[in-house]
Formats: sequence, structure tokens, C-alpha cells
Amino acid sequence: MAVQKEINPFEVARAQLDRVGEKLRLDPDMINILKYPHRELTVNFPVKMDDGKLQMFTGHRVQYNDALGPYKGGIRYHPKVTLDEVRALAAWMTWKCAVVGLPYGGAKGGIVCNPKEMSKGELERMTRRYASEISIIIGPMRDIPAPDVYTDSQTMAWIMDTYSMSQGYSVPGVVTGKPVVVGGSAGRDEATSRGAMYVTREAAKFLGMNLKGATVAVQGYGNVGYHAARLFHQEQGCKIIAVSDSRGGILNTAGLDPLKVEDHKRKTGSVIHYPGAESINNEEILEVKCDILVPSALEGVITDRNAKEIQAKIVCEGANGPTTPEADEILYKNETTLLPDILANAGGVTVSYFEWVQDLQAYFWDVNEVNQRLEKVLVAAFKTVHETAVKERIDHRLAAYMVAVRRVVDAYQARGIFP
Ligand code: NAD
Repeated sequence: MAVQKEINPFEVARAQLDRVGEKLRLDPDMINILKYPHRELTVNFPVKMDDGKLQMFTGHRVQYNDALGPYKGGIRYHPKVTLDEVRALAAWMTWKCAVVGLPYGGAKGGIVCNPKEMSKGELERMTRRYASEISIIIGPMRDIPAPDVYTDSQTMAWIMDTYSMSQGYSVPGVVTGKPVVVGGSAGRDEATSRGAMYVTREAAKFLGMNLKGATVAVQGYGNVGYHAARLFHQEQGCKIIAVSDSRGGILNTAGLDPLKVEDHKRKTGSVIHYPGAESINNEEILEVKCDILVPSALEGVITDRNAKEIQAKIVCEGANGPTTPEADEILYKNETTLLPDILANAGGVTVSYFEWVQDLQAYFWDVNEVNQRLEKVLVAAFKTVHETAVKERIDHRLAAYMVAVRRVVDAYQARGIFP
């Protein structure tokens, strides 16, 4: 049996940069600058577990680039977190903030851990210790973390509290994705998926695709996947035919009710064994015959091995980095419209930015205002990217990178290289 090479997400991120550097005819020195994260902090620290034993954990915070503003990016808890993964995610945050025009740079963090096997108390102690360790480089004007895989608003509340304790006063603007009661924004929970829905809706208009009744498959049924399934169904009238989580997937071509599937997941811990649906695995869900595929789990799932089997007309990247550069080319040749992560899932960081602005002003908006502003930002970002793609005859990823990298490079050049 052939040995499959592990996909290194940071190599993917750098390869994407080479491609855009050529296209923008950038000075290779400038591309070289952009290939390096600015600052990386790795921390090893003990946590007292419920059985009284001490366990060592390793965490990272990578601050990739701050040409456009303070660093911004989520924190991931996963057994497979690596420094290269965090670097890649931090690079993608840089381009994501730039493509939607936010005044932020990019960062990312992660702890190597298995949150599913930890109690709430253990998670709280690990989170607070990690927050304390990285507090030397984060702050509301420096670096603002947010949730990512297996972290949520509770995690952010603990980080906000720990950081505030060290300052001696409440600093809500140090993290986003907090509960509303401690300075979170209305609409943040579903913002990533709402943004994905707006971007897909705009793309569908150009493709002449009617979203009412369009079939959708969603890989991953967490924050992004669940809300995407729910919003595509409730607001666009799409038919959700397949969803999955880390334990497997379900398919029903007659359509699934996203709220009932979520209820089943809450009760049983997974979407699998949902009544009336067929079982499929996490590879099969990507190849299901559907109009829209929304990968919303982890990176590196659409590769040169399976890209030609993808039947969807639109691939909307809810997840970060689900598609490799080789797969991008195959999808483009097959006339699949790929809505790249840095645009498709930028709704989350956009509402995070709104949350930060509200925290700094201590003045909060209602959910309608948040959603309207989000729609305006993402429709404009899609338009710029789509026009670039059409003008340059390139795929939407390269177009989005052209827009984003150009902005970062312009900021670099305006600021100059110090000293
Ligand atoms: P989450 O922890 O809420 O959900 C992750 C989901 O993926 C869970 O349903 C989990 O069971 C499933 N999963 C895990 N491993 C899997 C596997 N091997 N195969 C299939 N499913 C698997 O995380 P999330 O916040 O929804 O993030 C999902 C993706 O979206 C990540 O790539 C993340 O970086 C990206 N993202 C999240 C946000 C956000 O606001 N939360 C914003 C932008 C991008």
C-alpha cells in the first residue's frame, strides 16, 4: 500500500504565497518576508488534573504579521496541534483580515490536548494557565484571540478573566467570541456561517444557481458546520442532504432538519445514528452528489486524491485550509467554483472586529445592526475578489490572495522596513 505523505499546512500556506507573488510580480524579497511568522511563543506548563496528578501541556501563540494592525486569530484545542499548523493558520488569518479590509494582522494559537477527555475544571485550569503564559504578548491593542476548533465562548470568558486579573481591571477587548454578558457581540456565534451563506449567495447569483432547493453537504457539525446547515436551510431554502462530525456522517437525499440533527448530537454526542439517515464516512461526504459542499472541520481534506470525485458546483470553505493547492487546480479545471476560506469564513473575524469595536467604545449594537454590517462587508469583499478573478481569469483563491497580499504589501511599503 502506498504511504500517504502527511500534508503540512504551513507548506501549503507558503506555496499559496509563491503563486500569488508570481501573479502580482512581487519582489521575491517581499514574498520572503511574508513567508515568515513575526513572533512565535511556545509554552510548556503543568496543570493539576482531577485525580491530583500533574500533567504537562504544550501551547503555542504565533503572531504572523501586523502590517495592517494588531494581531488577531483564534485558539485551537486539539491533540494534533503542531507549530506548523498554528503558523499556517496565523498566515491565513493575515490574508483573511486583509481581504475583507479589517484593520488587523494575523495570529493563531493552540494547545496540544484532547478536550473531549478533560473535565470542565481541567479545561478551565489549562485555559487560565495558558492565558497567563501568553499574557505577555496579547492585549486589546496587541493581539486579540478568539475561538477556534474545540474552544468556545466559555474559553474566551476564562481568558478575558485571567488577563483582566493580571491587569487589575476588566479588559473585555482582549478576546472576542465572549459571552454577550461580558462584552460579547450579538450574532458572533453564527457569524462565520452567516458570512459563508452571504458569500455563497453572491456566487450563486453569478452562476445562475437558485439556492431554493439546492442540495448541501456539510463536513463537520460544530460551530461553523451546524450554523451553516441551519442558515442555508432556514434563510436560503436549501436542502441539507448530508452532514458529519469526527465520528462519521449521515445522508438523506430527502433532506435533514438541521435543528433536529443538532438536538440528536447534543443528546448522543454525535450526528451518527440519526433516525432515517444512511451512514457515510468523512471521505464519502465530500463526494456526495450535491450543489454546495461546505467543508467545516479540519484542513487538508480535499486533495489531489479526491478532488476529481467532488460533484458539488460550489465548494464553500467553512474550515480553514480544507483544500490543497493541487486540488485547487483540479477543481478549477472541472469548473467547480471554490469560495476560499479567507473569504468564505471571514464572517467570524468580521463580527469579532465588530465585537472589539463595541468593547472599546463600551456601546453595543443589536443583532440586526451586526448582521447588516456583516452582509455589507462580505458582499463588498466578494465583489472585489470576483471581479479580480474574472479580470485575471483565475480562481477565486488566487484572486482573494491577490487582493489580500497586495494590501499587506502596500501597508509594509508605506511603513517601511525598520531600521
Ligand atoms: P468546532 O470545534 O465547533 O467543530 C468542529 C467540528 O468538526 C466538530 O463537529 C467535530 O466533530 C468535527 N470534526 C473534527 N474532526 C473531524 C474529522 N476528522 N472529520 C470530520 N469532522 C471532524 O470548530 P469550529 O469553530 O466549527 O471550526 C471548524 C473549522 O472552521 C476550523 O477549520 C476552523 O479553523 C474554521 N473556522 C472557525 C471559525 C469560528 O468562528 N469558529 C471561523 C473561521 C474558521
